[in-house]
Amino acid sequence: MTDLHRLSVREMAEGLKSAQFSSRELTQHYLDRIAKIDQHVKSYVTVTPEHALAQADAADGLLKSGMAGALIGVPLAHKDIFCTQGIKTTAGSKILDNFISPYDATVVSKAKAAGLVTLGKVNMDEFAMGSTSESSYYGATKNPWNLDCVPGGSSGGSAAAVAADLTPIATGTDTGGSIRQPASFCGLTGLKPTYGRVSRFGMIAYASSLDQGGPMARSAEDCAYLMNVMAGHDQKDSTSVNKDVDDYVADLNATTVKGLRIGIPKQYFNVQGLDADVKARVEESLKKLEEMGATLVEIDLNMTDAYVPTYYLIAPAEASSNLQRYDGVRYGYRAENPKDILDLYKRSRSEGFGAEVQRRILIGTYALSAGYYDAYYVKAQKVRRLIQQDFLKAFESVDVIAAPSAPTTAYKIGASLDPVEMYLGDIYTIAVNLAGLPAINAPVGFDANNLPVGLQLIGNYWSESQLLSVVHQYQQATDWHTKRATIAEENA
Ligand code: GLN
Repeated sequence: MTDLHRLSVREMAEGLKSAQFSSRELTQHYLDRIAKIDQHVKSYVTVTPEHALAQADAADGLLKSGMAGALIGVPLAHKDIFCTQGIKTTAGSKILDNFISPYDATVVSKAKAAGLVTLGKVNMDEFAMGSTSESSYYGATKNPWNLDCVPGGSSGGSAAAVAADLTPIATGTDTGGSIRQPASFCGLTGLKPTYGRVSRFGMIAYASSLDQGGPMARSAEDCAYLMNVMAGHDQKDSTSVNKDVDDYVADLNATTVKGLRIGIPKQYFNVQGLDADVKARVEESLKKLEEMGATLVEIDLNMTDAYVPTYYLIAPAEASSNLQRYDGVRYGYRAENPKDILDLYKRSRSEGFGAEVQRRILIGTYALSAGYYDAYYVKAQKVRRLIQQDFLKAFESVDVIAAPSAPTTAYKIGASLDPVEMYLGDIYTIAVNLAGLPAINAPVGFDANNLPVGLQLIGNYWSESQLLSVVHQYQQATDWHTKRATIAEENA
């Protein structure tokens, strides 16, 4: 079979179980595609062929023995923020260029235990700070729909690899939109779970009170399969919540769109900078959901103007604290010939961190400094609570809230947005992280340049099943999620 990469995860799993093809064949098929196509896309930082084929052989053994397990032998790629024992983990940074973790992240060990095959580690903005994947020390990843454009970020490598059919599914992380926005830019489905649903153990920290891992794939169904592997309580992460996990695959039809109340925040559709095509496609998708039986309810989210300033105080504040550990002594890059210990710290950090990371460390340190702590950090925390309350109030009258995932489609690599322009592009995603809510992106059409547009649905706490289910039903009634990126079409 030459088109194994066109199968859905369910079809892949069925094909493996009925021995239509082996995991070794499937894995080799993806490795061949990566070797051929990824020079153009640059989605992988590290490809691990020997490791992948060994895992594939082990999976084939398990499949032969009739071992149960939905995803045995199915390949995946991990965002290079998840620690992988024995395989380099860089977080897109020079400072971790030589870092080999002594242990696996919980998400990685869960994937292994489920029999998934790791093809490699995919690119990202340095320490997940960014919206384009350009800030990676390993160079910019390209958008498979148009190689001159960014794939979004920070999980741009995950998105580009799935969109170019260089892996069927990928893990991502979302601190302020890093799953949803690249999913939107690359025409994919991506789920940011409720804070605490997926373990953060071994996931390199950016802003710990916001960071959450989640699945990225072509469809809600594919995401549900990966979510079944990723979700769950973990004693090694004290913020992971000990609560029963849904069976996201079994629940794909559990919520019907009929009777679903979808909140449309008035403030969201008048945002300056909202692209006309994005607005039109999102509105068309809402119309479709209405035809399917949903009710659209206008709601107020009064705190919208506060999202960007609040997030861009809290996230850098936490980042400045988390990134103190990179001192040139304990991890990764170390400056050469230091004069003394202070020189070692200073130069290791100045030479090891890129410009955006340094900018955030400076902003965060400033916001946390003695004289400004109350005026900035504490105030931002109070506003954060108001933002959360705004959502909770809205959920008294609606089941889900609709929004674009991003105000624009993918823009050109090197468009040289100034930092504030880039931060403003996060307007639709960051409040969800501040409130700890789950949200999903689904592809809903294209702009005039044939670049994908995404719809975001935000749910109440622990409503991952509902979000996946609503998108699944939308995807049964539409075919946007089946459209293939240009480079995938050219290499069908
Ligand atoms: N673009 C946002 C930022 O730069 C979100 C990144 C993320 O979710 N990791 O912080």
